[in-house]
Amino acid sequence: MKPIPLSKAPIDAAQRKAIKPVLCYPVETLPRPDIGAYRAVREGLKHVRTVVVPARDAATFTVPAGSFFRIVSTEGPQVGDLNLFNQHDLSERFYTGKTRALNGTHLGVGDQLFSSFPSLRPMATITHDTLDWYGFDEFGGSVHDVIGTRCDPYTHNLLSGGGQYHHCCHSNLTRALSASTGLALHDAEPHVHDVLNVFMCTGFTRDTGQYFMKASPVQPGDYLEFFAEIDLLGCLSACPGGDCSAEHSSDTAKCYPLLVEIYEAAQRPEGWVAPVVSGYDRTHGVGV
Ligand SMILES: [Zn+2]
Repeated sequence: MKPIPLSKAPIDAAQRKAIKPVLCYPVETLPRPDIGAYRAVREGLKHVRTVVVPARDAATFTVPAGSFFRIVSTEGPQVGDLNLFNQHDLSERFYTGKTRALNGTHLGVGDQLFSSFPSLRPMATITHDTLDWYGFDEFGGSVHDVIGTRCDPYTHNLLSGGGQYHHCCHSNLTRALSASTGLALHDAEPHVHDVLNVFMCTGFTRDTGQYFMKASPVQPGDYLEFFAEIDLLGCLSACPGGDCSAEHSSDTAKCYPLLVEIYEAAQRPEGWVAPVVSGYDRTHGVGV
């Protein structure tokens, strides 16, 4: 809850508050993918591999550039926390903050997941979403957000007065990344980053601006589909919050596995070119 204001409102407060907002990043200047060309390729997809993400745990997977992958709900409603890396360079990873600034709080078909500086390029493009009917509900909630971070044992420890819980998404992602890269646990941990909350239904309360969650509308068979713009290493955690209707960071919620299905495409989307890293010269004005 926000405290009662200490400062007196100025006489023109109403006028100032009535100023209409403008979008921070005009979408006209953001290069958008030709989603029709991506979707045309979906017809010939060939399933090549399935990775099972156990409940309250995480798993890694690789997807070559030009292939597709789906995160699939199976057995019961379950939220997934997704990290993405350049398969050949862990320092290039999914950048939720900039992806949010460019696309909005929740992602859907046609949105691209951008990588960290200095690359800032699309890593993946969302090509299908069986939950796209949901839109925004009356509470301002929607699915697939880039506003939460990931449940983690540090925040849990802070809020629970010293609790130790080891199956938060942060720990699940850390263990899985460590196991697949061979990095020691504490060397893998700093690579874990803010996630795309797949299937999670979230928003900010209108009155206090607080982050909220509610039961995910996902049902077995629902999936979110991506096109890999670059060679990807993905890491997905099946959140201990299950459908995130009540709580996370405990073993209370009913949890289910998630599937990651990898698909080969017979051809590349028409006009597609592999994204190159940012053209900024990185001098930051020094010596210019
Ligand atoms: Zn989680």
